[in-house]
Amino acid sequence: MDMIDPFGRSISYLRVSVTDRCDFRCTYCMAEDMAFLPKKDLLSLEELDRICTVFIEKGVKKLRLTGGEPLVRKNIMHLVRQLSRHLASGALEELTLTTNGSQLARFASELADCGVRRINVSLDTLDPDKFHAITRWGNLAKVMEGINAARAAGLHVKLNAVALKDFNDHEIPEMLRWAHGRGMDLTVIETMPMGEIDADRTDQYLPLSLLRANLERQFTLTDIPYKTGGPARYVQVAETGGRLGFITPMTHNFCESCNRVRLTCTGTLYMCLGQDDDADLRAPLRASEGNELLSNAIDEAIGRKPKGHDFVIDRRTKRPAVARHMSVTGG
Ligand code: SAM
Ligand code: SF4
Repeated sequence: MDMIDPFGRSISYLRVSVTDRCDFRCTYCMAEDMAFLPKKDLLSLEELDRICTVFIEKGVKKLRLTGGEPLVRKNIMHLVRQLSRHLASGALEELTLTTNGSQLARFASELADCGVRRINVSLDTLDPDKFHAITRWGNLAKVMEGINAARAAGLHVKLNAVALKDFNDHEIPEMLRWAHGRGMDLTVIETMPMGEIDADRTDQYLPLSLLRANLERQFTLTDIPYKTGGPARYVQVAETGGRLGFITPMTHNFCESCNRVRLTCTGTLYMCLGQDDDADLRAPLRASEGNELLSNAIDEAIGRKPKGHDFVIDRRTKRPAVARHMSVTGG
């Protein structure tokens, strides 16, 4: 019983932002002084588990925990452990997370023990000072320790780097060699205009077509059909033997094969990363002990999934395309 949206896309991937809080303040993601949700508005871990379970019963095969920083949510491993029962039963094919890596040293082996096989770690630079500058609060050494712990626990680590003009564009070749030399894929992401931040996004925006052209001066990149169920397009890098992914929401329309929806930690479902339309699942969740109302609300929401996003970084208005920050839905 799959969920099929009005454009014939099968919805098999749920991303869950388990908290809007974070121990970093990346400049492209958050303002330094962020107002976070009051704790009472959050879904409990049991409620998150209940919603995820209904989605899995309705055909979700891949579930990603994100945030904010998922590993700073109190007792997060309790939720991971609970959700892992769906891996054991075969209903769920993959349980994974996107993390900034700061808490990984603590949690890596337990994640592996729960059946997590792959994780994405966001890392925009290998330079400790630049790392501190871009994350405002982060410590690169701790993240490195986390990545090492994850690899030691047998987790496949993919690195995600946001491409930022005049910040890390010149460093991408080095990061590519570094990641591929350790058996990790790297994906570069264009900045998306989400939420008010302190900086000017038009100054940060780097089209990946330009980055790719620059990389091709020193690397041989071959397009490959490799897919991980996400919007990244991959190339094989001859010189390093690894894969490089490009996520280009701004220069390329990645919506036609979209298979995902996003749940926030307050139970709001976003049918598209780049649109404001949402559906409240918390009210039907709390209205009864059974899951029928919740299931109906999900069906109704999927029936409203839009065809695509309208991201544009507008030099004149400088307003974000959507008002919420990426940390609400987790990328
Ligand atoms: N805290 C975790 C992390 O950093 O991996 C998970 C949440 S974070 C919001 C998810 C991803 O979104 C990160 O890779 C981050 O770099 C990316 N991101 C945040 N704001 C973005 C923006 N405005 N444009 C593009 N990517 C963004
Ligand atoms: Fe936190 Fe991730 Fe946003 Fe950075 S990108 S501020 S680590 S949520």
